[in-house]
Amino acid sequence: MKTIKDVFLNFHQVLDELYGAQETEAITLMVLSEITDLSRAKIKAFPEDDVPTDAREKLPAILTELKTCKPVQYILGSTEFYGLSFLVNPATLIPRPETEELVEWALLSLKLNVESQKSFSILDIGTGSGCIAISLKKNLPDAAVTAVDISAEALQTAKQNAVINEVDVEFIEVDVLKVSKSEIENRKFEIIISNPPYVTLHDKTLMHTNVTDFEPHSALFVPEDDPLLFYKAIADFAAEKLITGGLLFFEINEAFGKETVELLADKGFTNIELRKDMSGRDRMVKATI
Ligand code: GLN
Repeated sequence: MKTIKDVFLNFHQVLDELYGAQETEAITLMVLSEITDLSRAKIKAFPEDDVPTDAREKLPAILTELKTCKPVQYILGSTEFYGLSFLVNPATLIPRPETEELVEWALLSLKLNVESQKSFSILDIGTGSGCIAISLKKNLPDAAVTAVDISAEALQTAKQNAVINEVDVEFIEVDVLKVSKSEIENRKFEIIISNPPYVTLHDKTLMHTNVTDFEPHSALFVPEDDPLLFYKAIADFAAEKLITGGLLFFEINEAFGKETVELLADKGFTNIELRKDMSGRDRMVKATI
């Protein structure tokens, strides 16, 4: 595997049957841009160029791991989200592009709605790698951002990510289901945002093993008989802890758009908006209290 083109050919040969050609192309590009100093655009534009020797030496081990279906982001130890770099490991869910859309929506709404309040407070519930909290803070430097998660290990990674991205975010270990009796019970927030677990047993059977065998189940799955478990707990907490006019943002399971909207209406939220992701699936909800 001397040149960039050789690497692509070799990766396609080994991985196409596992991932399909399109995904293999994306994985190879991700690997090459991570282990060399080259940008993705350069890698694509100069396929005849040699891959530097030190990078070339890393390729066989990476390929072996990829054959086990381990997500490329865990193999490389990092990924990109909202233009920032995040460390990831099996204690943290790998940030998804849908969640970037949620961040984008939140930022847009906040810039429009809360422009006059320079130092509003934001709470991210179930932060994982910290991707939502950190991207918000990066784009709203005057906001006070707090992020909670049940996993001490995930919080460790999230803290490192805040350092890497040079932002100040407060991280606290809190069980979402017990959030109303936690350290943050006496606080008020202008914005609460969450991408809680929402994958049901039914969805799980449709998922690729590189998700189900490697990503943290506590961040993904909900009991089949109570798919909105986390949404109910967070909505109850938010109804009490958001200031009047405060905003709640959720990433949701595409199968429960209507149910989530009804749940929020029942809890007293207004201006409830359901939004689709780039694949045209119900994926986000925004509401006011
Ligand atoms: N969107 C993720 C997936 O489909 C699930 C994220 C979550 O459960 N919050 O893998």
